[in-house]
Amino acid sequence: MTPPLIDPFQRAISYLRVSVTDRCDFRCVYCMSENMTFLPKRELLTLEELDRLCSAFIRMGVRKLRITGGEPLVRRDIMTFFRGMTRHLEAGALDELTLTTNGSQLARFATDLYAAGVRRVNVSLDTLDEDKFARVTRWGRLPQVLRGIEAAQAAGLRVKLNAVALKGFNEDELISLTEWCAAHDCDLTWIEVMPMGDLETEDRIGQYWALSDLRAQLAQTYTLTDLPERTGGPARYVRLEETGQKIGFITPLTHNFCESCNRVRVTCTGELFMCLGQEDNADLRSPLRASDHDAPLEEAIRAAISHKPKGHDFDYSRQTQGGQMTRHMSHTGG
Ligand code: SAM
Ligand code: SF4
Repeated sequence: MTPPLIDPFQRAISYLRVSVTDRCDFRCVYCMSENMTFLPKRELLTLEELDRLCSAFIRMGVRKLRITGGEPLVRRDIMTFFRGMTRHLEAGALDELTLTTNGSQLARFATDLYAAGVRRVNVSLDTLDEDKFARVTRWGRLPQVLRGIEAAQAAGLRVKLNAVALKGFNEDELISLTEWCAAHDCDLTWIEVMPMGDLETEDRIGQYWALSDLRAQLAQTYTLTDLPERTGGPARYVRLEETGQKIGFITPLTHNFCESCNRVRVTCTGELFMCLGQEDNADLRSPLRASDHDAPLEEAIRAAISHKPKGHDFDYSRQTQGGQMTRHMSHTGG
């Protein structure tokens, strides 16, 4: 038996998020600049290396795997990787295989994803207005994403929408997005915008909208009941009594979830980030490429987890001003 991964604060690592590409078919204003330089292919982990890496983490106790990016569904042949992970679901070693996607390619892949064992997808959608959607994603088209969501649900996938809360942009859609989700049987989670990447974000989009304020606005229309549910991550949930809907709030700028953090992230180049909000990382690509055996890889993972920090600091002390991270979100994977 491979011993489980326990960090210095006695937190067991059971959740791995893996970015499989830095590329994307959208250019969301809070995530990427218009002209991105992407990594050369040799820098990326191959699909085989991704399989070895995820399988090693699963051997060491990871029970939930989330695939992200960039846009994971634009990675060439990504279904081969998903199908490879099916064996861990079937063996009972993995509880959940899931992904975060912009939805643009879902119509094409929904059935295959279901067949590979995926049961839930997070689709990022900040607005239901076609013009605003084109503005915030720069290259995205809303009808394509809506068709993707429809295809996902038809294939049997449970869809959760993730919306980034942007003051002066989707504030006016708080109720309409909630109602749309109720009508389409989707869960909805709001994400506070994070200071990621060095973006020349337009003034009118990307303004910080505190979720405490969003929540207060929601409470003017609905009766909110806090749910005790904890995922080990930064999400908190409420139930809307009038509709029975579950609404989540992800507030990465607060520290209130670090104590129970059960997760780590790996970038598409094999850097293991022990904490989204810290620069400290470990190179897993070298041990993967140095040997066909997994012992050096496992050793590197264990050594890194023994340095997992207590918490992040999106404020003033350890980082540059405002805790700003120089990495783009598409690099670490959201
Ligand atoms: N392309 C996929 C997508 O959009 O769902 C997966 C990767 S994307 C980086 C993952 C999530 O990060 C998305 O929900 C996106 O809205 C969110 N995100 C990107 N930049 C962000 C930022 N600066 N602050 C908060 N959330 C951000
Ligand atoms: Fe692409 Fe997702 Fe970033 Fe938007 S948030 S640019 S869809 S990676």
